[in-house]
Amino acid sequence: MTSGTGWITGDAEAFTRDFLPLFRPVPPARPGVCRICRSGPDNAGDTGGPRGICGSCERTTKNLYGHARHVIPISLTTTNAQLHDVLVRRRDPVGAGGRRRRADFLAATVAHFYDRHSRCLEGLAGGPFTLVATVPGNDPETPATAFHLMWQVVEKVPALARLWRPLLLEPDTAFAPVLAGRRSHRDAFLIPRADRLSAARVLLVDDLFVSGAHVQSAASALIEMGAEAVVALVIARLINPASRDGHGTGLWEESCQRPFSFDRCCVCDPAAHGAA
Ligand SMILES: [Zn+2]
Ligand SMILES: [Zn+2]
Repeated sequence: MTSGTGWITGDAEAFTRDFLPLFRPVPPARPGVCRICRSGPDNAGDTGGPRGICGSCERTTKNLYGHARHVIPISLTTTNAQLHDVLVRRRDPVGAGGRRRRADFLAATVAHFYDRHSRCLEGLAGGPFTLVATVPGNDPETPATAFHLMWQVVEKVPALARLWRPLLLEPDTAFAPVLAGRRSHRDAFLIPRADRLSAARVLLVDDLFVSGAHVQSAASALIEMGAEAVVALVIARLINPASRDGHGTGLWEESCQRPFSFDRCCVCDPAAHGAA
């Protein structure tokens, strides 16, 4: 299925077909759905806008140099879902055709999604991507493994691998507790000075989006070094179906009632255009 150069589109499609039950559709931005992370409750009442950002995104973006204005998750997940086990507990997924290697599954997922929705992502960036970056050290316990995992994933997707550069340095240990505490910091990820990114449009790829502390700190560093736009593509967006405000419950129930399809994303979903 994999070749030396990566996933051929048909292969990624066939591979992911066995795993469709692992994915849950992501709602399009609309009143009640954050326009950055496509999840948490918006606080339109506080911000006065019809499509506000959630309290979590407000916290993780406010003290940064800049941030990704759009985070596009391929799927929603909860901590009880198999997709979460694959991402966080490093389990190899089991689909209709049996157990497969985790890195292959993630690469096929990204390859299939990017093949279908690169235009959606480029539209948000204002043009074709000129660079691809991955967030290093997402797992405070094994930063090197996490770094290599996302690189292994992107490496198998030729459309992304050709634009990937090792731009972001692993966070200094001083920032580990900050990020682990789900707080962002503009200096958490540094970029070597030689790598000034004049007017680059960057696709920032990561595995799991929780608060966005990692993704948004990384986006801030990219923008501070000159990137014109950063759009984040994440495999899954974690939601809490037992949230006290009931918002996560509603989003998760809605998501479980709709079949997942690689043919639509939260940007091009026809429901996005029907929303008030
Ligand atoms: Zn948000
Ligand atoms: Zn799309």
